[in-house]
Amino acid sequence: MEGPDRVLTDPALMGDPSLVSYEKGGGYKGLRRVLSALSPTDVIAEIKESGLRGRGGSGFPTALKWEKVAHHRVPVRYVVANGSEGEPGSHKDHYLISRSPHQILEGMIIACFAVSAKSGHLFVKESFPEGVEILKKAREEALEAGLLGNNILGTGFSVDIEIFVGPAAYIAGEETALLEALEGRMPRPRPKPPFYPTEMGLHRKPTVVNNVETYAHVARIMAKGPAWFRERGTPKSPGTMIFSVSGSVRRPVVVELPLGFSLERLLYDYAGGPLPGESFQCFFTGGPSFGILPAREIDTPLEYDALRAKGTGLGSAGIIVLGSGDSVLATASSFAAFYEKGSCGQCPPCRLGTESLHDLLGRIENGSGSEEILERIAKVTKMIKGRGNCGLITASAFMAESLLEHFSPALREEIAASGESRPRRIPSWQYDHFVPQEQASARG
Ligand code: SF4
Repeated sequence: MEGPDRVLTDPALMGDPSLVSYEKGGGYKGLRRVLSALSPTDVIAEIKESGLRGRGGSGFPTALKWEKVAHHRVPVRYVVANGSEGEPGSHKDHYLISRSPHQILEGMIIACFAVSAKSGHLFVKESFPEGVEILKKAREEALEAGLLGNNILGTGFSVDIEIFVGPAAYIAGEETALLEALEGRMPRPRPKPPFYPTEMGLHRKPTVVNNVETYAHVARIMAKGPAWFRERGTPKSPGTMIFSVSGSVRRPVVVELPLGFSLERLLYDYAGGPLPGESFQCFFTGGPSFGILPAREIDTPLEYDALRAKGTGLGSAGIIVLGSGDSVLATASSFAAFYEKGSCGQCPPCRLGTESLHDLLGRIENGSGSEEILERIAKVTKMIKGRGNCGLITASAFMAESLLEHFSPALREEIAASGESRPRRIPSWQYDHFVPQEQASARG
């Protein structure tokens, strides 16, 4: 595919967030097809055939998750949508919720049918009040139109979806912390293994948890078929994804592209290239949690496996760009502070490790770095990796480790220059800077 491929962000589906607009653009065709012609097993088979992988960060095959839940003998199962979007630099869920809430609801209703769940729960952060209102309105519209609630479209299938307004804390986006919040407790990740949400999820019942973008893809796949979905992307990472590019580019942008699209083309053609007079220094391709991709790897295709092979990841496709004028040290230090603040504190290695990494990076920043500090950073990352109930601890270790891997010479320069005043620019990844994709045509 040569350029943007507006599948979820098709202007016909995104005219405005209303049901009228969504149905006019072909919305709810997937649900109508499912309820009139398919069995739950057929739906899962089509999702499997499409090769859809979860768009929330891990890229786990969606159908495998659904199969695990559908195969449980217990009668009560749940479907949960994660719309918390806390990863710095990721703004795709915000974009989707704001412009096409019915697409998410449609995918969730289909998921409920596929795994025989009687209720769905959509988690959205209290810090996104416009999104909460848009989703609540969409739910009301779907109920009134008989697309949600009892006896949907007269087929005998019934399901309701709760719009759950949850805490804004970063950790609330971790899937088991989110389940805790849905149950009315503090959002703290549960230990796993042995039990994952597909076995013991919401109220300890088998639960599908997917990102909101994943459900939107489900709606399109069921409307147009798995072969159509596979026409885009790569054989192992089919379909499209909504990318957010922020930081030191001329035009921070949210744009939907086929997976496998060139990072270089995304940055030059859609995000406008580096800031005037600068060059690219490095990228956080999956937000800070997946570490650093140096600028020399700009030709890496944007898909799960290619990025993993380069030691980083796609995550939720929030790409933060550092230009030659940015300080990688100050940026990493601000991410370390973010993880320290975000830690829920229940695992001692995380509580102490995130604090320690922030402190050690801060010492280099304020001129009291040394070779010993670099060694201590390396030691802490090794000690804490994988030693908590969730991925935050490993993400913080990974971020610091990749800083050492790619920028040790620059850190040593910082140490040698201790006391000198140095520029410490940090790229911005805030939402209000973004250009929506309809205004971001190639080289426009
Ligand atoms: Fe909380 Fe950190 Fe443990 Fe995750 S690893 S559960 S954030 S203390």
